[in-house]
Amino acid sequence: MSVTEVGKHATVACPFCATLNRVDLTRITDRPKCGHCGRPILLDRPIAVTDATLDGVLTGTDVPVVMDGYADWCGPCKIMAPILDDFARQRQGDVLVVKLDTDRNPATTRRFDIRAIPTLIVFRHGGEVARRAGAIPRQELDALVGPIAPTGPIGRS
Ligand SMILES: [Zn+2]
Repeated sequence: MSVTEVGKHATVACPFCATLNRVDLTRITDRPKCGHCGRPILLDRPIAVTDATLDGVLTGTDVPVVMDGYADWCGPCKIMAPILDDFARQRQGDVLVVKLDTDRNPATTRRFDIRAIPTLIVFRHGGEVARRAGAIPRQELDALVGPIAPTGPIGRS
């Protein structure tokens, strides 16, 4: 094969010890474990990002990243949460879903100018490509992320 295989990795913080781990998304059925504490890294649900870990996650992830900027006291966020849970489970390996607690991570909240919550931001290769403020239905979330295009221009529907 002359075609260069495009990397398909995600970098996520271990939910137990916060160590950043690079995970091969083509092998998630092998149940990846944290290289530091050995506990499982579960990519079938949104994974927390913080001011400290977001840049590592964005630069180390080849697939689109959906970031949910939320707060615990926010009603619409509670409507959005199960939609994002389903989305993360059904598209695991193709999309990485992360969640940002805006109350605890003011630097990232300011940096991305998140003024309403929830705010959903889609990143590809570290750059913001789409965002939406407020809770949205699943179809809109799918449309926001778009079709999976590992190379070439992003299709718009
Ligand atoms: Zn760990």
